Amino acid sequence: MKNEAKIPVANPRTGKVDFHITPASLDDVKTECQALRARQSEWSQLTSEHRANILLKLSATIAKHKDELIAALAADTGRYGLSILETDGVAASIKRWIKTVEAMIVPYEGRSSSLPFITYAVENRPYPLVGVISPWNFPLTLALIDAVPALLAGCAVIIKPSEVTPRFAEPLRQIISEIPQLDAVLTVVDGAGETGSALVDNVDVVCFTGSVATGRKVGEQAARNFVPAFLELGGKDPAIVLESADIDRASTAILRGSIINTGQGCQSIERVYVHENQFDDFLDLLVTKAKAVTLNTPDIHSGHLGPLIFARQAEIIQSQIDDAVAKGAVVHTGGKIVNAGGLWYPPTVLSNVSHNMTVMTEETFGPVLPVMPFKDNDQAVTLANDSVFGLSASVFAADADAAIAVGRRIEAGGISINDAALTALMYEAEKNSFKLSGLGASRMGAPGLLRFFRKQSFMTNTADIFTIQQFDETISKPE
Ligand code: NAD
Repeated sequence: MKNEAKIPVANPRTGKVDFHITPASLDDVKTECQALRARQSEWSQLTSEHRANILLKLSATIAKHKDELIAALAADTGRYGLSILETDGVAASIKRWIKTVEAMIVPYEGRSSSLPFITYAVENRPYPLVGVISPWNFPLTLALIDAVPALLAGCAVIIKPSEVTPRFAEPLRQIISEIPQLDAVLTVVDGAGETGSALVDNVDVVCFTGSVATGRKVGEQAARNFVPAFLELGGKDPAIVLESADIDRASTAILRGSIINTGQGCQSIERVYVHENQFDDFLDLLVTKAKAVTLNTPDIHSGHLGPLIFARQAEIIQSQIDDAVAKGAVVHTGGKIVNAGGLWYPPTVLSNVSHNMTVMTEETFGPVLPVMPFKDNDQAVTLANDSVFGLSASVFAADADAAIAVGRRIEAGGISINDAALTALMYEAEKNSFKLSGLGASRMGAPGLLRFFRKQSFMTNTADIFTIQQFDETISKPE
Protein backbone atom coordinates (compact mmCIF):
# COMPACT_ATOMS: atom_id res chain seq x y z
CA MET A 1 0.00 0.00 0.00
CA LYS A 2 1.43 3.38 -1.02
CA ASN A 3 0.47 6.96 -0.22
CA GLU A 4 -1.70 8.37 -2.96
CA ALA A 5 0.05 11.75 -3.30
CA LYS A 6 2.93 11.58 -5.72
CA ILE A 7 5.94 13.84 -5.24
CA PRO A 8 7.00 15.80 -8.34
CA VAL A 9 10.72 15.89 -9.16
CA ALA A 10 12.28 18.65 -11.26
CA ASN A 11 15.09 18.05 -13.72
CA PRO A 12 18.04 20.26 -12.73
CA ARG A 13 19.04 20.84 -16.37
CA THR A 14 15.61 22.01 -17.57
CA GLY A 15 13.90 23.17 -14.40
CA LYS A 16 10.84 21.15 -15.48
CA VAL A 17 9.12 18.39 -13.55
CA ASP A 18 9.72 15.20 -15.52
CA PHE A 19 9.61 12.53 -12.81
CA HIS A 20 7.43 11.54 -9.87
CA ILE A 21 7.86 9.28 -6.90
CA THR A 22 5.20 7.63 -4.82
CA PRO A 23 6.31 7.90 -1.22
CA ALA A 24 6.28 4.82 0.98
CA SER A 25 3.57 5.19 3.60
CA LEU A 26 4.10 4.80 7.33
CA ASP A 27 2.57 1.32 7.08
CA ASP A 28 4.84 0.40 4.15
CA VAL A 29 7.89 1.39 6.17
CA LYS A 30 6.71 -0.47 9.25
CA THR A 31 5.97 -3.66 7.27
CA GLU A 32 9.27 -3.49 5.40
CA CYS A 33 11.24 -2.91 8.58
CA GLN A 34 9.60 -5.91 10.26
CA ALA A 35 10.47 -8.09 7.27
CA LEU A 36 14.07 -6.87 7.16
CA ARG A 37 14.50 -7.43 10.88
CA ALA A 38 13.15 -10.98 10.56
CA ARG A 39 15.65 -11.80 7.81
CA GLN A 40 18.62 -10.09 9.46
CA SER A 41 19.28 -12.92 11.89
CA GLU A 42 20.30 -15.27 9.07
CA TRP A 43 22.46 -12.54 7.50
CA SER A 44 24.26 -11.86 10.78
CA GLN A 45 25.04 -15.55 11.18
CA LEU A 46 26.94 -15.73 7.89
CA THR A 47 30.69 -15.38 8.25
CA SER A 48 31.98 -11.91 7.50
CA GLU A 49 33.83 -13.45 4.53
CA HIS A 50 30.51 -14.71 3.16
CA ARG A 51 28.92 -11.29 3.59
CA ALA A 52 31.96 -9.72 1.93
CA ASN A 53 31.51 -12.00 -1.09
CA ILE A 54 27.90 -10.94 -1.41
CA LEU A 55 28.93 -7.28 -1.25
CA LEU A 56 31.46 -8.01 -4.01
CA LYS A 57 28.55 -9.29 -6.09
CA LEU A 58 26.91 -5.91 -5.52
CA SER A 59 30.02 -4.28 -6.91
CA ALA A 60 30.01 -6.60 -9.96
CA THR A 61 26.29 -6.08 -10.58
CA ILE A 62 26.71 -2.31 -10.38
CA ALA A 63 29.46 -2.63 -12.99
CA LYS A 64 27.07 -4.67 -15.18
CA HIS A 65 24.33 -2.01 -14.93
CA LYS A 66 26.69 0.95 -14.80
CA ASP A 67 25.14 2.73 -17.77
CA GLU A 68 21.59 2.73 -16.33
CA LEU A 69 22.82 3.87 -12.94
CA ILE A 70 24.98 6.67 -14.38
CA ALA A 71 22.14 7.83 -16.65
CA ALA A 72 19.74 8.04 -13.68
CA LEU A 73 22.31 9.84 -11.51
CA ALA A 74 23.11 12.27 -14.34
CA ALA A 75 19.37 13.02 -14.68
CA ASP A 76 19.13 13.48 -10.91
CA THR A 77 22.09 15.86 -10.66
CA GLY A 78 22.64 17.31 -14.14
CA ARG A 79 26.33 16.38 -14.13
CA TYR A 80 27.87 13.39 -15.85
CA GLY A 81 31.53 12.97 -14.90
CA LEU A 82 30.84 13.05 -11.17
CA SER A 83 28.04 10.50 -11.70
CA ILE A 84 30.65 8.12 -13.14
CA LEU A 85 32.94 8.81 -10.18
CA GLU A 86 30.09 8.17 -7.73
CA THR A 87 29.30 4.84 -9.41
CA ASP A 88 32.95 3.73 -9.51
CA GLY A 89 33.36 4.86 -5.91
CA VAL A 90 30.93 2.21 -4.63
CA ALA A 91 33.19 -0.65 -5.78
CA ALA A 92 36.20 1.08 -4.25
CA SER A 93 34.41 1.55 -0.93
CA ILE A 94 33.27 -2.09 -0.80
CA LYS A 95 36.85 -3.26 -1.40
CA ARG A 96 38.20 -0.88 1.21
CA TRP A 97 35.79 -2.04 3.91
CA ILE A 98 36.37 -5.71 3.11
CA LYS A 99 40.13 -5.25 3.41
CA THR A 100 39.84 -4.02 6.95
CA VAL A 101 36.75 -5.80 8.25
CA GLU A 102 38.39 -9.02 9.48
CA ALA A 103 40.96 -7.18 11.56
CA MET A 104 38.31 -4.93 13.05
CA ILE A 105 35.74 -7.36 14.31
CA VAL A 106 37.76 -10.12 15.97
CA PRO A 107 36.24 -11.06 19.30
CA TYR A 108 38.59 -10.85 22.27
CA GLU A 109 39.07 -12.76 25.48
CA GLY A 110 40.65 -11.88 28.79
CA ARG A 111 40.87 -12.45 32.51
CA SER A 112 39.80 -9.99 35.17
CA SER A 113 42.82 -8.40 36.83
CA SER A 114 40.93 -7.77 40.08
CA LEU A 115 39.30 -11.25 40.12
CA PRO A 116 41.73 -13.53 38.21
CA PHE A 117 39.40 -16.56 38.44
CA ILE A 118 36.86 -14.77 36.20
CA THR A 119 37.53 -15.02 32.49
CA TYR A 120 35.60 -13.14 29.88
CA ALA A 121 34.95 -13.05 26.16
CA VAL A 122 33.59 -10.05 24.30
CA GLU A 123 31.66 -10.45 21.06
CA ASN A 124 30.13 -8.01 18.62
CA ARG A 125 26.37 -8.05 18.14
CA PRO A 126 25.24 -6.07 15.12
CA TYR A 127 22.22 -3.85 15.52
CA PRO A 128 19.41 -5.60 13.64
CA LEU A 129 18.27 -2.76 11.42
CA VAL A 130 20.02 0.44 10.32
CA GLY A 131 18.04 3.27 8.71
CA VAL A 132 19.90 5.52 6.27
CA ILE A 133 18.41 8.91 5.37
CA SER A 134 20.43 10.68 2.70
CA PRO A 135 20.61 14.09 0.95
CA TRP A 136 20.66 15.12 -2.70
CA ASN A 137 24.19 16.40 -3.29
CA PHE A 138 25.90 13.02 -3.85
CA PRO A 139 22.85 10.76 -4.12
CA LEU A 140 24.48 7.35 -4.60
CA THR A 141 27.60 7.91 -2.48
CA LEU A 142 25.63 9.15 0.51
CA ALA A 143 22.93 6.47 0.21
CA LEU A 144 25.60 3.75 0.44
CA ILE A 145 28.37 5.33 2.54
CA ASP A 146 26.91 3.97 5.80
CA ALA A 147 24.96 1.08 4.26
CA VAL A 148 28.06 -0.83 3.09
CA PRO A 149 29.83 -1.04 6.49
CA ALA A 150 26.48 -1.72 8.24
CA LEU A 151 25.78 -4.65 5.91
CA LEU A 152 29.31 -5.99 6.38
CA ALA A 153 28.80 -5.77 10.14
CA GLY A 154 25.73 -8.01 9.80
CA CYS A 155 22.92 -5.45 10.00
CA ALA A 156 19.96 -5.17 7.67
CA VAL A 157 19.60 -1.73 6.08
CA ILE A 158 16.75 0.42 4.83
CA ILE A 159 17.69 3.49 2.78
CA LYS A 160 15.55 6.52 2.07
CA PRO A 161 17.25 8.76 -0.49
CA SER A 162 16.38 12.41 -0.95
CA GLU A 163 13.14 13.15 -2.78
CA VAL A 164 15.10 15.77 -4.76
CA THR A 165 17.29 13.13 -6.49
CA PRO A 166 15.33 9.85 -6.43
CA ARG A 167 15.84 8.58 -10.01
CA PHE A 168 18.89 6.46 -9.19
CA ALA A 169 16.86 4.40 -6.68
CA GLU A 170 15.11 2.33 -9.35
CA PRO A 171 18.27 1.03 -11.09
CA LEU A 172 19.79 0.49 -7.65
CA ARG A 173 16.75 -1.58 -6.59
CA GLN A 174 17.07 -3.56 -9.83
CA ILE A 175 20.74 -4.24 -9.08
CA ILE A 176 19.95 -5.35 -5.51
CA SER A 177 17.13 -7.61 -6.71
CA GLU A 178 19.64 -9.61 -8.78
CA ILE A 179 21.43 -10.67 -5.57
CA PRO A 180 18.75 -12.51 -3.53
CA GLN A 181 20.77 -12.76 -0.31
CA LEU A 182 21.37 -9.02 -0.36
CA ASP A 183 17.83 -8.26 -1.46
CA ALA A 184 16.65 -9.95 1.73
CA VAL A 185 18.43 -7.42 3.94
CA LEU A 186 18.71 -4.22 1.89
CA THR A 187 15.74 -2.10 0.83
CA VAL A 188 15.54 1.32 -0.81
CA VAL A 189 12.27 3.22 -0.25
CA ASP A 190 11.09 6.42 -1.91
CA GLY A 191 9.72 9.38 -0.04
CA ALA A 192 10.31 12.74 1.62
CA GLY A 193 10.39 13.86 5.26
CA GLU A 194 7.37 11.85 6.40
CA THR A 195 8.87 8.62 5.11
CA GLY A 196 12.21 9.53 6.67
CA SER A 197 10.52 10.13 9.99
CA ALA A 198 8.80 6.72 9.71
CA LEU A 199 12.25 5.14 9.34
CA VAL A 200 13.39 6.76 12.57
CA ASP A 201 10.46 5.13 14.39
CA ASN A 202 11.16 1.65 13.00
CA VAL A 203 14.93 1.09 13.00
CA ASP A 204 17.56 0.36 15.65
CA VAL A 205 20.17 2.88 14.45
CA VAL A 206 19.78 6.00 12.32
CA CYS A 207 22.47 7.28 9.96
CA PHE A 208 21.38 10.71 8.82
CA THR A 209 23.16 13.00 6.37
CA GLY A 210 21.58 16.37 5.71
CA SER A 211 20.92 19.81 7.08
CA VAL A 212 21.24 20.90 10.71
CA ALA A 213 17.51 21.73 10.88
CA THR A 214 16.44 18.24 9.83
CA GLY A 215 19.26 16.60 11.76
CA ARG A 216 17.97 18.21 14.94
CA LYS A 217 14.48 16.77 14.33
CA VAL A 218 15.89 13.33 13.52
CA GLY A 219 18.17 13.40 16.56
CA GLU A 220 15.31 14.38 18.88
CA GLN A 221 13.00 11.70 17.49
CA ALA A 222 15.70 9.04 17.73
CA ALA A 223 16.49 10.05 21.31
CA ARG A 224 12.83 9.64 22.26
CA ASN A 225 13.03 6.09 20.86
CA PHE A 226 16.38 5.44 22.62
CA VAL A 227 17.90 4.77 19.22
CA PRO A 228 21.41 6.01 18.42
CA ALA A 229 21.54 8.60 15.64
CA PHE A 230 24.73 9.35 13.75
CA LEU A 231 24.26 12.84 12.35
CA GLU A 232 26.42 14.17 9.49
CA LEU A 233 25.30 17.75 8.94
CA GLY A 234 26.28 21.02 7.34
CA GLY A 235 29.47 23.03 7.35
CA LYS A 236 31.01 26.43 6.69
CA ASP A 237 34.53 25.20 6.18
CA PRO A 238 37.37 27.73 6.39
CA ALA A 239 40.68 27.63 4.54
CA ILE A 240 43.64 29.47 6.08
CA VAL A 241 46.56 30.52 3.92
CA LEU A 242 49.50 31.33 6.19
CA GLU A 243 52.17 33.88 5.28
CA SER A 244 54.65 31.18 4.21
CA ALA A 245 52.22 29.26 1.98
CA ASP A 246 52.70 28.53 -1.72
CA ILE A 247 49.78 30.61 -2.97
CA ASP A 248 49.71 29.03 -6.42
CA ARG A 249 49.16 25.63 -4.82
CA ALA A 250 46.73 27.04 -2.25
CA SER A 251 44.60 28.89 -4.81
CA THR A 252 44.32 25.80 -7.04
CA ALA A 253 43.37 23.56 -4.12
CA ILE A 254 40.94 26.02 -2.55
CA LEU A 255 39.20 26.66 -5.86
CA ARG A 256 38.69 22.92 -6.43
CA GLY A 257 37.71 22.33 -2.80
CA SER A 258 35.13 25.08 -2.98
CA ILE A 259 33.48 24.66 -6.37
CA ILE A 260 33.58 20.93 -7.15
CA ASN A 261 30.02 19.65 -7.58
CA THR A 262 29.09 23.35 -7.91
CA GLY A 263 29.91 23.83 -4.23
CA GLN A 264 27.16 21.41 -3.23
CA GLY A 265 29.29 19.55 -0.71
CA CYS A 266 29.25 19.59 3.07
CA GLN A 267 33.05 19.80 3.03
CA SER A 268 33.21 22.66 0.50
CA ILE A 269 35.53 25.53 1.37
CA GLU A 270 33.15 28.42 2.05
CA ARG A 271 35.47 30.98 3.71
CA VAL A 272 39.06 31.85 2.81
CA TYR A 273 41.43 33.67 5.17
CA VAL A 274 44.74 34.81 3.67
CA HIS A 275 47.70 36.46 5.40
CA GLU A 276 47.65 40.17 4.57
CA ASN A 277 51.12 40.05 2.95
CA GLN A 278 49.92 37.45 0.42
CA PHE A 279 46.33 38.68 0.10
CA ASP A 280 46.46 40.67 -3.17
CA ASP A 281 48.55 38.10 -5.05
CA PHE A 282 46.37 35.25 -3.79
CA LEU A 283 43.19 37.06 -4.81
CA ASP A 284 44.56 37.72 -8.33
CA LEU A 285 45.46 34.06 -8.76
CA LEU A 286 42.12 32.84 -7.45
CA VAL A 287 40.11 35.19 -9.66
CA THR A 288 42.13 34.23 -12.76
CA LYS A 289 41.66 30.53 -12.06
CA ALA A 290 37.95 30.94 -11.23
CA LYS A 291 37.35 32.79 -14.50
CA ALA A 292 38.77 29.83 -16.43
CA VAL A 293 36.10 27.48 -15.04
CA THR A 294 33.21 26.68 -17.38
CA LEU A 295 29.64 25.46 -16.90
CA ASN A 296 28.34 22.22 -18.36
CA THR A 297 25.59 23.92 -20.35
CA PRO A 298 24.28 23.47 -23.00
CA ASP A 299 26.28 20.23 -23.26
CA ILE A 300 26.40 17.95 -20.21
CA HIS A 301 29.59 16.44 -21.65
CA SER A 302 31.58 19.66 -21.53
CA GLY A 303 32.58 22.18 -18.87
CA HIS A 304 33.41 21.84 -15.20
CA LEU A 305 30.32 22.67 -13.18
CA GLY A 306 26.84 21.16 -13.32
CA PRO A 307 23.61 22.98 -12.51
CA LEU A 308 22.30 23.60 -9.03
CA ILE A 309 20.57 20.33 -8.23
CA PHE A 310 17.94 21.89 -6.00
CA ALA A 311 16.58 25.10 -7.57
CA ARG A 312 15.69 26.64 -4.19
CA GLN A 313 19.41 26.62 -3.38
CA ALA A 314 19.89 29.32 -6.04
CA GLU A 315 17.76 31.73 -3.98
CA ILE A 316 19.86 31.05 -0.87
CA ILE A 317 23.13 31.63 -2.73
CA GLN A 318 21.86 34.80 -4.43
CA SER A 319 20.45 36.23 -1.20
CA GLN A 320 23.83 35.73 0.51
CA ILE A 321 25.66 37.45 -2.35
CA ASP A 322 23.14 40.31 -2.42
CA ASP A 323 23.44 40.74 1.36
CA ALA A 324 27.25 40.82 1.07
CA VAL A 325 27.22 43.35 -1.79
CA ALA A 326 24.74 45.57 0.08
CA LYS A 327 27.19 45.59 3.00
CA GLY A 328 30.19 46.50 0.83
CA ALA A 329 31.57 43.24 -0.61
CA VAL A 330 33.28 43.36 -4.01
CA VAL A 331 32.39 40.68 -6.58
CA HIS A 332 35.46 39.84 -8.70
CA THR A 333 33.86 37.16 -10.84
CA GLY A 334 30.51 35.40 -10.97
CA GLY A 335 27.81 36.61 -8.60
CA LYS A 336 24.78 35.99 -10.81
CA ILE A 337 22.58 32.97 -11.54
CA VAL A 338 22.85 31.67 -15.12
CA ASN A 339 19.35 30.62 -16.17
CA ALA A 340 19.52 28.13 -19.02
CA GLY A 341 16.31 26.30 -18.22
CA GLY A 342 17.97 24.84 -15.14
CA LEU A 343 19.97 27.17 -12.90
CA TRP A 344 23.76 27.29 -12.98
CA TYR A 345 26.00 29.33 -10.72
CA PRO A 346 29.49 30.35 -11.85
CA PRO A 347 32.45 30.35 -9.43
CA THR A 348 32.13 33.57 -7.46
CA VAL A 349 35.00 35.31 -5.70
CA LEU A 350 34.28 38.07 -3.18
CA SER A 351 36.55 40.36 -1.20
CA ASN A 352 35.93 43.13 1.32
CA VAL A 353 33.82 40.68 3.29
CA SER A 354 33.19 40.51 7.03
CA HIS A 355 31.47 38.30 9.55
CA ASN A 356 28.34 40.45 9.63
CA MET A 357 27.48 39.04 6.17
CA THR A 358 25.49 35.80 5.87
CA VAL A 359 27.96 34.60 3.22
CA MET A 360 30.51 34.31 6.05
CA THR A 361 28.24 32.72 8.65
CA GLU A 362 25.55 30.57 6.99
CA GLU A 363 26.06 27.50 4.83
CA THR A 364 26.09 28.59 1.16
CA PHE A 365 26.19 25.20 -0.59
CA GLY A 366 27.31 26.91 -3.79
CA PRO A 367 30.56 27.79 -5.60
CA VAL A 368 31.26 30.95 -3.63
CA LEU A 369 34.65 32.02 -2.27
CA PRO A 370 34.66 35.02 0.07
CA VAL A 371 38.27 35.97 0.79
CA MET A 372 39.38 37.95 3.85
CA PRO A 373 42.84 39.06 5.03
CA PHE A 374 44.29 38.38 8.50
CA LYS A 375 47.27 39.87 10.36
CA ASP A 376 48.57 36.91 12.36
CA ASN A 377 47.86 33.29 13.20
CA ASP A 378 45.81 34.16 16.28
CA GLN A 379 43.45 36.27 14.24
CA ALA A 380 43.18 33.56 11.56
CA VAL A 381 42.23 30.98 14.18
CA THR A 382 39.71 33.33 15.81
CA LEU A 383 38.06 34.01 12.45
CA ALA A 384 38.01 30.31 11.49
CA ASN A 385 36.41 29.38 14.82
CA ASP A 386 33.83 32.16 14.63
CA SER A 387 31.18 29.77 13.33
CA VAL A 388 28.40 27.55 14.62
CA PHE A 389 29.76 24.81 12.34
CA GLY A 390 32.83 22.59 12.82
CA LEU A 391 32.92 20.05 10.01
CA SER A 392 36.36 20.49 8.45
CA ALA A 393 39.00 23.05 7.51
CA SER A 394 42.19 23.49 5.49
CA VAL A 395 45.51 25.11 6.37
CA PHE A 396 48.33 26.00 3.95
CA ALA A 397 51.94 26.77 4.93
CA ALA A 398 55.45 26.16 3.59
CA ASP A 399 56.05 23.78 6.46
CA ALA A 400 53.37 21.12 7.14
CA ASP A 401 54.15 21.18 10.88
CA ALA A 402 53.41 24.90 11.04
CA ALA A 403 50.09 24.28 9.29
CA ILE A 404 49.26 21.39 11.66
CA ALA A 405 50.02 23.62 14.67
CA VAL A 406 47.39 26.06 13.45
CA GLY A 407 45.06 23.20 12.51
CA ARG A 408 45.12 21.89 16.10
CA ARG A 409 43.55 25.16 17.24
CA ILE A 410 40.61 24.89 14.82
CA GLU A 411 37.33 23.54 16.15
CA ALA A 412 36.61 21.10 13.33
CA GLY A 413 37.03 17.37 12.80
CA GLY A 414 38.84 17.00 9.46
CA ILE A 415 41.81 19.28 8.86
CA SER A 416 43.40 19.15 5.39
CA ILE A 417 47.02 20.26 5.30
CA ASN A 418 48.34 21.90 2.14
CA ASP A 419 45.28 20.72 0.24
CA ALA A 420 41.57 21.41 0.54
CA ALA A 421 38.58 19.26 1.47
CA LEU A 422 40.50 15.98 1.51
CA THR A 423 37.66 14.25 3.37
CA ALA A 424 35.85 14.17 0.03
CA LEU A 425 38.65 12.13 -1.52
CA MET A 426 39.68 9.67 1.22
CA TYR A 427 37.86 7.83 3.96
CA GLU A 428 40.40 6.23 6.28
CA ALA A 429 41.14 9.14 8.61
CA GLU A 430 38.83 9.11 11.64
CA LYS A 431 37.11 12.36 12.45
CA ASN A 432 34.16 13.64 14.46
CA SER A 433 32.01 16.59 13.60
CA PHE A 434 32.39 19.51 15.99
CA LYS A 435 29.62 21.90 17.03
CA LEU A 436 26.46 21.88 14.86
CA SER A 437 28.12 19.84 12.09
CA GLY A 438 27.06 16.54 13.58
CA LEU A 439 26.96 14.01 16.34
CA GLY A 440 28.21 10.52 17.00
CA ALA A 441 31.09 8.20 16.16
CA SER A 442 33.31 8.82 13.14
CA ARG A 443 31.94 7.65 9.80
CA MET A 444 35.52 7.45 8.54
CA GLY A 445 38.07 4.82 9.56
CA ALA A 446 37.38 1.75 11.74
CA PRO A 447 34.61 3.37 13.87
CA GLY A 448 32.62 3.75 10.65
CA LEU A 449 32.00 0.00 10.92
CA LEU A 450 32.40 -0.62 14.64
CA ARG A 451 29.54 1.79 15.49
CA PHE A 452 27.11 -0.80 14.08
CA PHE A 453 27.93 -3.26 16.87
CA ARG A 454 26.83 -3.51 20.45
CA LYS A 455 29.30 -5.32 22.65
CA GLN A 456 28.18 -8.44 24.45
CA SER A 457 30.44 -9.97 27.08
CA PHE A 458 30.43 -13.47 28.57
CA MET A 459 31.95 -13.59 32.07
CA THR A 460 32.78 -17.01 33.49
CA ASN A 461 33.68 -17.71 37.10
CA THR A 462 35.94 -20.77 37.30
CA ALA A 463 36.36 -20.69 41.10
CA ASP A 464 34.08 -20.71 44.13
CA ILE A 465 31.22 -18.30 44.11
CA PHE A 466 30.78 -15.43 46.53
CA THR A 467 28.02 -15.97 49.07
CA ILE A 468 25.67 -13.37 50.43
CA GLN A 469 27.28 -13.91 53.84
CA GLN A 470 30.49 -12.41 52.52
CA PHE A 471 28.57 -9.18 52.02
CA ASP A 472 27.04 -9.20 55.49
CA GLU A 473 26.50 -5.64 56.71
CA THR A 474 27.52 -6.56 60.26
CA ILE A 475 31.10 -7.49 59.36
CA SER A 476 31.71 -4.07 57.84
CA LYS A 477 30.76 -2.29 61.07
CA PRO A 478 33.73 -0.16 62.27
CA GLU A 479 35.34 -1.21 65.62
P1 NAD B 1 17.77 17.88 4.27
O1 NAD B 1 18.04 17.94 5.72
O2 NAD B 1 16.77 18.81 3.69
O3 NAD B 1 17.28 16.40 3.87
C1 NAD B 1 18.06 15.26 4.11
C2 NAD B 1 17.17 14.04 4.12
O4 NAD B 1 16.29 14.10 5.24
C3 NAD B 1 16.27 13.87 2.91
O5 NAD B 1 16.26 12.51 2.53
C4 NAD B 1 14.91 14.29 3.43
O6 NAD B 1 13.82 13.71 2.75
C5 NAD B 1 14.97 13.77 4.84
N1 NAD B 1 14.04 14.38 5.80
C6 NAD B 1 13.46 15.60 5.75
N2 NAD B 1 12.69 15.80 6.86
C7 NAD B 1 12.82 14.69 7.62
C8 NAD B 1 12.31 14.29 8.90
N3 NAD B 1 11.50 15.09 9.60
N4 NAD B 1 12.66 13.10 9.37
C9 NAD B 1 13.48 12.28 8.70
N5 NAD B 1 14.00 12.59 7.48
C10 NAD B 1 13.68 13.78 6.96
O7 NAD B 1 19.18 18.03 3.58
P2 NAD B 1 19.49 18.22 2.02
O8 NAD B 1 19.06 19.58 1.63
O9 NAD B 1 18.99 17.04 1.26
O10 NAD B 1 21.09 18.11 2.01
C11 NAD B 1 21.94 19.21 2.12
C12 NAD B 1 22.53 19.27 3.50
O11 NAD B 1 23.22 18.06 3.78
C13 NAD B 1 23.57 20.37 3.66
O12 NAD B 1 23.38 21.04 4.88
C14 NAD B 1 24.88 19.60 3.67
O13 NAD B 1 25.92 20.27 4.33
C15 NAD B 1 24.49 18.34 4.35
N6 NAD B 1 25.44 17.26 4.07
C16 NAD B 1 26.26 16.83 5.07
C17 NAD B 1 27.23 15.84 4.82
C18 NAD B 1 28.16 15.37 5.90
O14 NAD B 1 28.80 14.32 5.72
N7 NAD B 1 28.31 16.07 7.01
C19 NAD B 1 27.32 15.30 3.54
C20 NAD B 1 26.47 15.77 2.56
C21 NAD B 1 25.52 16.74 2.84
